[in-house]
Amino acid sequence: MESLKRDDRLVSRAVRPQGSRVRIGDVEIGGDEFIVIAGPCGIEGRAQIMEAAQLVGQAGARLVRGGAFKPRTSPYSFQGLGEQGLRMLHEASLANGLPTVTEVVSPEDVPLVSQYADALQVGARNMQNFALLSAVGKSDKPVILKRGLAATLEEFLMAAEYIALRGNLSIVLCERGIRSFDSATRNVLDMSAVALLRQMTHLPVLVDPSHATGRRELVGPMSRAAVSAGADGLMIEVHPSPERALSDGPQSLTPAQFSGLMHDLAGYVALEGRVFSLFAPPIGTAFETHRRRIDRFDEIIVRMLSERAKIALELAQVKSRLHLPVLAPDREAAVLDHVQRLDSRPIGPDAIARIYSVIIREMRDLATSATVGKELSREASEQPIETV
Ligand code: PEP
Ligand code: MN
Repeated sequence: MESLKRDDRLVSRAVRPQGSRVRIGDVEIGGDEFIVIAGPCGIEGRAQIMEAAQLVGQAGARLVRGGAFKPRTSPYSFQGLGEQGLRMLHEASLANGLPTVTEVVSPEDVPLVSQYADALQVGARNMQNFALLSAVGKSDKPVILKRGLAATLEEFLMAAEYIALRGNLSIVLCERGIRSFDSATRNVLDMSAVALLRQMTHLPVLVDPSHATGRRELVGPMSRAAVSAGADGLMIEVHPSPERALSDGPQSLTPAQFSGLMHDLAGYVALEGRVFSLFAPPIGTAFETHRRRIDRFDEIIVRMLSERAKIALELAQVKSRLHLPVLAPDREAAVLDHVQRLDSRPIGPDAIARIYSVIIREMRDLATSATVGKELSREASEQPIETV
């Protein structure tokens, strides 16, 4: 079999070691920003897609998704609203300022779908539909290519190569789970594929935890894992009322669950050093958006300080048990030195030292008040001693 390890493939990492960025409307995937695409599985009506676009946008999604042509396993299942659905999606996009992603299932439909959508999705069931790959390859729209139900990474990348070879290099890969023997989840999310694809190809990689698991309660944990695995973003199914969804209800998040997840993800994305801009809803001004982003970062900072304080308290207990002094001026100096050496631009090392002097003082007060003059509880004294 021909190997993708060859460096001369259009999609090989070796061709573009710096990675590629794919632009969909005003959104860039593969850059510094971690991108969330969200929306219902299928467009079911004007009100549904309008509501979905508004709510996902307000929660911080940068693109809205929704299928108008649904490649359903059963021919008796809801097949989508076709062109009418595309129009509704387009309208929802304009009303909420979110570019759109929607699936195209046949080569003849590429011009029609391109009229309305900002990006064309090639679904898992069509990953090796070579006529479709060629058609989207000739289109000027970016393509989101989903991994086939049982496709190897080599086959996945060869499918992308078909698109690239026709001249379209705006391709984003999407890992959406693969078939396995266990029916506990709808598919098996191949997270190692995400990390491995980053080595193999320069194309951005998304994770779809909804189709990968088929269960809404697993979408959160798998989203967090995807951030850590190095994904460039997520594609998540969200429905205004999942219990009424015409397709994929059990894996669709409710509006509240989605906004909770976005909130939760902000910390993980920040830890990966990526930007997580929350989308400004049209009713909000840029001013309000910035304030919201600052609030979100303050939440992360306070959460981190709380975790840091817990460690400082544990350390104080261990020291007290070992009859060591709780205060360690040398260590405090080392902490200050350490943080001043970190890249904190645009905050300079002197300002960091001032901020940390306060943090250290507060942690010191906390540690002394928790240990000095107090008996340590039996429980605490039985905690394992860690070398620190
Ligand atoms: C979808 O995204 O709606 C979809 C059908 O996904 P997949 O092709 O991954 O099954
Ligand atoms: Mn779906």
